Amino acid sequence: MNCLVLLLVLTGASSASKLPWYSQLWQAEQSVLGFQENPYHEFSKEIKEVAVIGAGPAGLQHVVELREAGLNVRLFERKEHPGGNWHYQEEVALPEPHPQPLASRAAFIPDLGPNPDSESVQHKLYQDGEDNLSLEDRLREHAVPSSVWNNLHANSVSGITHFLASPLPLNTPWELSQWSIRRLVRAYASNHELNSNDAEVSNITSYNTRVERVVKIGDKWRIRLRKLELLPRTRQIEVTWWTETFDAVVIAAARSNAPFVPNIPGLEQWASRYPAQVLHSRQYRRPEKYSNQTVLIVGASISGSEIARDLFPLAGRIITSVKDHSSTERSIFKKLAAHRIPEGVINLGEIASFSDLKPGDSISEGTVQLKNGTVLTGIDSVILATGYVTSWPFISQFHNDTIHGTDDPDTEVAPIVNGDGKLRSIYLGTFYIPDPTLVVSAVRVWNVGPFSALAVAKVWSGKARLPNSRRMWEEHRGLIRAAGGPDSAQLVGIGFGAPITEFLFRKFVAWLNSEALIFGGKQTDTYPREWREQWVNFAKVHWGPEFPISLEDFNEAEDTGEAALGKRRFLDEVVAALENY
Ligand SMILES: Cc1cc2nc3c(=O)[nH]c(=O)nc-3n(C[C@H](O)[C@H](O)[C@H](O)COP(=O)(O)OP(=O)(O)OC[C@H]3O[C@@H](n4cnc5c(N)ncnc54)[C@H](O)[C@@H]3O)c2cc1C
Repeated sequence: MNCLVLLLVLTGASSASKLPWYSQLWQAEQSVLGFQENPYHEFSKEIKEVAVIGAGPAGLQHVVELREAGLNVRLFERKEHPGGNWHYQEEVALPEPHPQPLASRAAFIPDLGPNPDSESVQHKLYQDGEDNLSLEDRLREHAVPSSVWNNLHANSVSGITHFLASPLPLNTPWELSQWSIRRLVRAYASNHELNSNDAEVSNITSYNTRVERVVKIGDKWRIRLRKLELLPRTRQIEVTWWTETFDAVVIAAARSNAPFVPNIPGLEQWASRYPAQVLHSRQYRRPEKYSNQTVLIVGASISGSEIARDLFPLAGRIITSVKDHSSTERSIFKKLAAHRIPEGVINLGEIASFSDLKPGDSISEGTVQLKNGTVLTGIDSVILATGYVTSWPFISQFHNDTIHGTDDPDTEVAPIVNGDGKLRSIYLGTFYIPDPTLVVSAVRVWNVGPFSALAVAKVWSGKARLPNSRRMWEEHRGLIRAAGGPDSAQLVGIGFGAPITEFLFRKFVAWLNSEALIFGGKQTDTYPREWREQWVNFAKVHWGPEFPISLEDFNEAEDTGEAALGKRRFLDEVVAALENY
């Protein structure tokens, strides 16, 4: 480093610029040394105004860190309250569309209002029943009730299922109910004045507000917003549309946010004829409705096996249909989920078709043909526990529905979501590589989430440097290769107690703390080891002795670098299972 240049910059002798001081330093150095690649990303302007989409645990953590770093934050949440997936409601989502829509449209169809490009605020009143939608259905379409059911208990131990900054009391049970997690997320929001009661006072939060479109024009992100308000006195809904602009955006709108429905012949007809009896697992709430019924659960991975457990004491007969039932290639979590299915549940093979229903047929008169030739009849309800895809219609320009797996797109835009509804192009499960003023929360929210949120706050406030995009791509692709090849393209950042999580902890801590030595600001420490150990002990009981991560893995992870991750075949399986969450 040229000391003269350093001195000039630090004393403010460079031209007055809004860029962080280290960017000015780099530019000044270039004028003395001539061209050379800047190893760090250069933001075109200082970041001050930021938007966070989603008030689940991820979005809340981001807001807290960004505010602490001195940035002006707006938080947009389509539901009435914070909590995200953990905001349990008795209401259920509207029936899912059949057949499966493209990923870019699977979550919802954006409604930009009567004049999307107008700067002025627009309003419209809706009557009950308008467009064949009741007021309640219009609210459900807008806010989408979450997917947890009344008796759901987390399959992750409490040590890795709470906010790092708010440790749980020592006597907290290892197994948390969804009600406890709901309380802890709401309490976190309240502690930081982000709850819906604190709402508009601070001008930070905007609840009941769905983000409809996010586009970058010049160096500003323009966000189109739509807010719904129920007017109980006149039995109307008032919809308001407006636009706000930001320097940077965090998408914390959940990865598994749109249901996946399989393309099985006849299923569409069954679903449209019997919407109350053929539903996706996100609409499951309580077992009472299924008393003495014969229930067919399609897919017996994490949700399917847990719903089978919940139904078991009340249902008359439970049948699970699992793809490739006999295959030894089934993912480890699917095998582990089998350990959760109560004895007495009948496990059968893959479905070939649902029969053609004649007018007047009840659902139990229909037949279900399995690929192995078995024919089922007398089914009262079908629950599609077939998982979720990522669908963010508000950034349709970053969806590419035509590419699958790791296909290369034939467009210049690096996609964020591919045609399978899987994420790509995200550095450390956080920064969109071609333009890191866009952040995607793709990490496991509770344990890697805090580090990711801190990294964003530091980078955007000029307290940490991000590698340039060439280096980010290199590191990203290297990590994917190390973690087992092309199918793991969206692996980066997920982590669930596996060695990839260990890598991410060490990566974030080493990077952020060395930057803190130069630029000051908060330092951090790796995730407490005892909570990771708690997870392994819990998982061996919860998932059974076959659970593939052991205490030794943590010891090994202490000594191994990212290349060693490639040896861990089970990582792919862990990831594949988590994708079906
Ligand atoms: C059935 C089920 C069970 C699970 N069990 C576990 C478990 O046991 N352990 C575990 O660790 N994880 C579990 N998970 C994963 C769970 O999603 C995470 O624990 C966590 O909630 C993710 O946090 P998040 O903030 O990223 O997303 P979420 O909690 O889903 O929050 C996202 C928020 O974004 C909002 N949003 C979305 N789109 C928009 C928009 N366009 N405009 C405005 N707001 C928007 C949503 O309304 C929501 O409030 C489970 C998930 C499901 C579906």
